[in-house]
Amino acid sequence: MKAVNADGIGLYRTEFLFLGRDTLPDESEQYEAYRAVVKSMQGKPVTIRTFDVGADKALDIFAGRVEPNPALGLRAVRFSLSEPQIFLTQLRALLRASAHGKLQIMVPMLSHAQEIDQCLALIEKAKAELREEKLKFDERIEIGGMIEVPAAALALGMFVRRLSFLSIGTNDLIQYTLAIDRSDEAVVHLYDPLHPAVLKLISGTIATGARLGVPVSVCGEMAGDATYTLLLLGMGLRNFSMHPAKVLEIKRLVLRADIGELAPKVQRILKMDEQSRVREAVERLAG
Ligand code: PEP
Ligand code: MG
Repeated sequence: MKAVNADGIGLYRTEFLFLGRDTLPDESEQYEAYRAVVKSMQGKPVTIRTFDVGADKALDIFAGRVEPNPALGLRAVRFSLSEPQIFLTQLRALLRASAHGKLQIMVPMLSHAQEIDQCLALIEKAKAELREEKLKFDERIEIGGMIEVPAAALALGMFVRRLSFLSIGTNDLIQYTLAIDRSDEAVVHLYDPLHPAVLKLISGTIATGARLGVPVSVCGEMAGDATYTLLLLGMGLRNFSMHPAKVLEIKRLVLRADIGELAPKVQRILKMDEQSRVREAVERLAG
């Protein structure tokens, strides 16, 4: 991260702590892991996502459960809220780590207002416990949510009212918008980030965030793919989160871009409803 001079960490996936083992990480193991990453960033923001398990990332201890349609089943925040004690343990660990730098908590796969409210209530409960136990945390910690379900992108108001920042997870947003299982080889050729419906959801989220003053980033693979950099810039995106190996390439493109010229071109692209025309126009953005 330091080598590429990133402004922070936009997506720290915590699932890796939970997967491939037959016991769950306790609060102190999680606290140590989160504290280490926050400290290593020396005051730069670190956005840590609460565990996104389920579907293709099934926890070993829950592996016996058969789901008819795992991608639409008990994954991410749905799983977390169905296991409040496991979730609370993670939230306590995250809050305690927030005493050591700038940590933000991000919740994956939200689509309902009551899910956000339940998460916020659990965070308040964790805070109250820590105060009682005289354990330190950042009282002003920011809580954000991922926009990766079309319903979320289309009903942003409920997110904006409740959360401090949003991050678009394009990997899942494309999967759920196009009804294409992102892990199924047989349909992978239909998985298209440039589908007009996908672009409408992404650009609408960025524009609404800008209008209402809520920071929006993109943390799916699209943000680190040079094919889409100018398109996203022209939509108004200013926060790109990607694998560290991609940062230099994308930064170079951003620094060279003329945003004043890009914005009207991208507005024209957003009116197109044929994928082939969109693709050609996006290629032309690169000059
Ligand atoms: C996404 O869906 O774009 C995302 C960043 O989350 P993940 O790939 O971990 O599902
Ligand atoms: Mg996702």
